[in-house]
Amino acid sequence: TKMLFNDSIMDRKKVIDIEDRGYQFGDGIYEVVGIYNGRAFLLDEHLERLQRSAKELKINIPYSVNRLKEQLLELVKINGLKEGVIYLQISRGVAERWHQFPVEEVAPVLVAYTKEEETLKEEEDNGATAILTQDIRWLRCDIKTLNLLPNVLGKQKATEKQAVEAIFHRGDIITEASASNVFIVKGSVLYTHPANHFILNGITRRKVIDLCNELDLDVREETYSVSDLLSADEVFITATKLDIVPIIRIDEVLIGEGIPGKYTTRILQAYRDIIRETSNE
Ligand code: PLP
Repeated sequence: TKMLFNDSIMDRKKVIDIEDRGYQFGDGIYEVVGIYNGRAFLLDEHLERLQRSAKELKINIPYSVNRLKEQLLELVKINGLKEGVIYLQISRGVAERWHQFPVEEVAPVLVAYTKEEETLKEEEDNGATAILTQDIRWLRCDIKTLNLLPNVLGKQKATEKQAVEAIFHRGDIITEASASNVFIVKGSVLYTHPANHFILNGITRRKVIDLCNELDLDVREETYSVSDLLSADEVFITATKLDIVPIIRIDEVLIGEGIPGKYTTRILQAYRDIIRETSNE
């Protein structure tokens, strides 16, 4: 398959310098965009978040975002990708290894490639399990950076316990999960952690909040505790790569009746409908 390297679509090959700051420091940003039926879902939203991450870290996106959008769509087309994701990352660039930013202007290094993946898979619609683990990340989780070691360790711990996700708690507050956002349902109210520096404001999260508003469901961006989570009627997680997955057990605790609840099921169905509609327009 082909890759995007800076502004060129070329054969996929090894092109990264050993002094790329993304490689040495995790000094870069990324996005993962879902492709359904050959169409990029919420691409503008992902590119907006990319621009925000770039600004927060003072990384210059090497060319216009309009051009980048065109190139990404071209890459999807050339690779004939129907179902899967685009992975895109931009590092601060290549420079002699010092922690501070390079003094001389260096060009950021942009790479993107596509990956075929089964989308809208229904195998987890009956619910999945998660574990709880301490949130040991820094205080700028709102930036989508390449620095993902705490997320990697969390996901690994979950995997070792045959769980799909590690849900993070910072003290008594549930923040999000290693690669997804977390929603709970209590009675007729949905709660999810507010979009501040403790979480990544997921594109899926935002779309689910909009959807709840459209469906007239009471959704609140408020913090909730570990015991709120464990005693919730329903729990689900959201991410580009998962869309929505009902969580029916956390460590040894069954959530609600141990089956996906009615709010979760309704939101999941409605969300899939939006994806199907937008990718078949
Ligand atoms: N939170 C974290 C830490 C993530 O890494 C991700 C995505 O990978 C998400 C949330 C979900 O974000 P999105 O819905 O934009 O994929």
